[in-house]
Amino acid sequence: MNNFTYIRATSVKDALQRAKTDQKAMYIAGGTNLVDRLKVFLDEPSQLIDISRLEMGRIERTSSGGLRIGALVSNTAVADHPDVRRNYPMLSRAILAGASQQIRNMATMGGNLLQRTRCPYYYDTAFPCNKRQPGTGCPAATGINRMHAILGASEQCFAVHPSDMCVALAALDAVVDVEGPKGKRQIPLTDFHRLPGDAPQRDTNLEPGELITAVTLGPMPFAKSGVYLKLRDRTSYAFALISVAAALELTGEQIKNARLAMGGIAHKPWRTTEAEKFLIGKPANTTTFQQAAEIALAGAKPLTHNAFKVDMAKRAIRRALTVSAKGGGVV
Ligand SMILES: Cc1cc2nc3c(=O)[nH]c(=O)nc-3n(C[C@H](O)[C@H](O)[C@H](O)COP(=O)(O)OP(=O)(O)OC[C@H]3O[C@@H](n4cnc5c(N)ncnc54)[C@H](O)[C@@H]3O)c2cc1C
Repeated sequence: MNNFTYIRATSVKDALQRAKTDQKAMYIAGGTNLVDRLKVFLDEPSQLIDISRLEMGRIERTSSGGLRIGALVSNTAVADHPDVRRNYPMLSRAILAGASQQIRNMATMGGNLLQRTRCPYYYDTAFPCNKRQPGTGCPAATGINRMHAILGASEQCFAVHPSDMCVALAALDAVVDVEGPKGKRQIPLTDFHRLPGDAPQRDTNLEPGELITAVTLGPMPFAKSGVYLKLRDRTSYAFALISVAAALELTGEQIKNARLAMGGIAHKPWRTTEAEKFLIGKPANTTTFQQAAEIALAGAKPLTHNAFKVDMAKRAIRRALTVSAKGGGVV
């Protein structure tokens, strides 16, 4: 039993001040991930600071032609927003590929970024876990590791990042706006989440007490052809085995610009810049897409039970790029 107090923050300043004076306090937004974690004592806060009524619930167009999405906008509202559907369809589709309608109604932008891994060894407190309790070991290394990482893992942790939305945000060059005890700063989404290294207990580069206030997307006209492909054990209500967010800009048959990110394969949303660089200037055809997929997976180190992910990821990349080259739509 862990006793904690519950406080509803009255302003961003109030929330930051409360977090600053209590290192064991945690923010709660939609609660769809945190409450599950509290129930099994993965988190034992001294205080829950409810931020859900703060003024961070709007989607606004930016002067540069992008979008600023407040940290408290629900996943449903982002996925349904006309500008998101028109200009960043991969983001809308990635969100709709996750969880269920009821969960998406509650889940927020900020909470989605900070949801924690679904590694069963992390959730089951009967097992040791370096993420839960540093230095205790990682049973996934030799255990049932079918869902685990094939890129960027360390001996300390093979967990994968679970968010669909973040894979699309990585491909879209999103930036996370945060505010904390030292002021405001912006973190590119691709630098927001961390690889496990020797500190798998840290998922992100957020500092203690920092609050996510918004996510900003710049203008990216060719993102209109963007697609999101999610492969999983069930067609709904399941986390990704492999997912791909892809967008291509073509001049005639030639690739002018490319974005490619993957989910389900690493401790963070995996942007494949080497493959993107390769694609630029090449003809948009199956051979090119296959070569890009080989580059994207070149460093893969599968475990006992997840070698299938390597081939699955390559096929998913090929398919996502093929559909994007034809103008996008449902993959
Ligand atoms: C059954 C089930 C299935 C799911 N399936 C999928 C799926 O297929 N794909 C997928 O992507 N997701 C899936 N999800 C996860 C879901 O998307 C997340 O639970 C949700 O996005 C979390 O948002 P929230 O607002 O409820 O976060 P909360 O639970 O409130 O918070 C999550 C974490 O973020 C922190 N936090 C929240 N907001 C802020 C902020 N503004 N600043 C700083 N810290 C903050 C909290 O302290 C906490 O640590 C699933 C969830 C469930 C329960």
